Amino acid sequence: MVILAVFKGVEEVLGKLLLLVVIALVIYGLLKSYSRKMNNPPSTKVDGAEDMVRCAQCGVHQPKSESILSEGKFYCSDEHRKLHQK
Ligand SMILES: [Zn+2]
Repeated sequence: MVILAVFKGVEEVLGKLLLLVVIALVIYGLLKSYSRKMNNPPSTKVDGAEDMVRCAQCGVHQPKSESILSEGKFYCSDEHRKLHQK
């Protein structure tokens, strides 16, 4: 019975430790995402970042260099270019 009681105590301590670890990880994650936001605000355009364009057919956004330009409109794929111009 004594062994069982000790075991139970250990389990309780481990449970609390696990909870602490989880809390620490959550705080760490929050701080990390917070500092990332501070260093790289979404409104500020990063130098060298590519322009995003919208597919005229399906509306998907993607880098300009990966899009197909046809008659002043961008498409995500040649398939959508054909579909749109049908
Ligand atoms: Zn598309």
